[in-house]
Amino acid sequence: MVEVQLAGRDVRDEKVLETFLQIPRELFVLEKYRYSAYDDSPLPIGYGQTISQPYMVAKMTEILNLHKNDILLEIGSGSGYQAAIASRLCKFVYSVELVPELAEFARNNLEKAGIDNVEVICGDGSIGLEEFAPYDKIVITAAIEEVPLELFDQLKDGGCIVAPEGPRYTQQLVKYEKINNEIVKEVYFGCVFVPLRGEKGFKE
Ligand code: SAH
Repeated sequence: MVEVQLAGRDVRDEKVLETFLQIPRELFVLEKYRYSAYDDSPLPIGYGQTISQPYMVAKMTEILNLHKNDILLEIGSGSGYQAAIASRLCKFVYSVELVPELAEFARNNLEKAGIDNVEVICGDGSIGLEEFAPYDKIVITAAIEEVPLELFDQLKDGGCIVAPEGPRYTQQLVKYEKINNEIVKEVYFGCVFVPLRGEKGFKE
């Protein structure tokens, strides 16, 4: 998976590649998909949601450019896999999940992987997570029409937000950097994510 799907494409960050070798994706998929754990695709995790494609997790992590003292906010815990990968590259991850059963699934998976610097919080992450703000970096792992303003308020200066932004069925992976309190946007490539729900998310 690492050699072909990640390094074989354009994932260049050695620390990111190394982290994928340390964290078994099979711990984050449903039992019945274990044989597909290293496939080049998202997989169902129940409740209409998916664990993202490994390449997508790698690119988002690479773009976040995590540092060892960073506090990261993830919106959409799902299986906990993205949080697990990120946790190895930063200090602490707060991860918000809307579906209570998935929040529990993510917590269990993270525990199985022996990860103790991620806290999964059940709630609506479409308005961010005021409680522990500000964050060094924020990653949204579900599609959002436009990154909500609340998230920019919860981001430290010098930090960035990485998200799949756009209409319901086709988004672009984007990064917003907050530099001297100005926002600079960079667009990467087209992608399709499950929709973010909640107050600032998609309604249908
Ligand atoms: N990062 C995950 C993939 C997430 S899929 C992984 O590595 O497996 C997107 C997740 O976002 C789903 O679990 C979905 O339930 C969750 N979600 C959707 N709307 C949300 C919201 N408003 N707040 C928090 N989580 C949300």
